Amino acid sequence: MKTKPITLNWFFKWGIFGGKIVEWILLYVLKAMNNTTYKINHEAIQIHGNGLFSKEEVTVSISKGLKDSGIIFVLNNEKIEANVCNVSNANRNTVLTGSKETVCLVEHFLAACSLLGIDDIEVKTNKNELVFGDGSALHWYEAFRKSDLMSPPSQNKYNLKEPLFIKSGNKEITAIPSTEFKVSYYMDWDHPALGKLWASWEQGEGEVAQLRLLRARTFGTKEENDFFGMSEKLLTLTENGFNKELYEPLEPVYHKILDIIGDLRLCGINPLEINMHVMGFKSGHSLNVEMAKELAKVVK
Ligand SMILES: [Zn+2]
Repeated sequence: MKTKPITLNWFFKWGIFGGKIVEWILLYVLKAMNNTTYKINHEAIQIHGNGLFSKEEVTVSISKGLKDSGIIFVLNNEKIEANVCNVSNANRNTVLTGSKETVCLVEHFLAACSLLGIDDIEVKTNKNELVFGDGSALHWYEAFRKSDLMSPPSQNKYNLKEPLFIKSGNKEITAIPSTEFKVSYYMDWDHPALGKLWASWEQGEGEVAQLRLLRARTFGTKEENDFFGMSEKLLTLTENGFNKELYEPLEPVYHKILDIIGDLRLCGINPLEINMHVMGFKSGHSLNVEMAKELAKVVK
């Protein structure tokens, strides 16, 4: 009798075995990741890896900031706060601009900070972007988990009192009052590998569920990923499927949920501190940022 190979999904299915299995999953996944290197001395992290836009190596140094300073990106000595008032573009990724400098692709980093309870940090980069990794947030998790920057979830809670609703064409994003933070997403792509998909994630589901979001990779069409010379390295749609095996069928939807959590951090606080159920219907960065603007008014 042949032994069935143990897959990542098997680990997730039986994730109740706890931390050790999570560790194995990480080792397995990180082996397949890009050449990302880390220097970590508990209070500071330096991470070095591939950029998407510059097509060059990017070095990001993260250190503790002042209390209540929030998340501050630093490029060429200019400080740019992770806040909706600094968003200059949210078409395909989320871009922050200060008086001179611009930092692209902040959403996966901000999602990792929200999920792991990281705040009040300075994030220095030497390029107009952050380390891209495999298009997920797993490399940020790997860096943070070895540092002392991670903290338990904040006990501060805001209650959303009224529903918020934003619509543009056939895309929508809604936030309704809830007893805890939750995100759901509905995807509808005219492609045999995707189609109509729905997934939800809620705070308190544990570390395995958290990793399901952190490891979920971005995906693009071949034309999009060819533009960056990355169609082989990244998750790319082919005629009937993807160029690489998905970790699980809902991975693309979990990535959309990761994007929402990252973009909503721009409201000024960790969105996980707001008791609300956010529901995205085919929405992307631009609607996420509009929702962050509305939330910024609520938590002010
Ligand atoms: Zn993304």
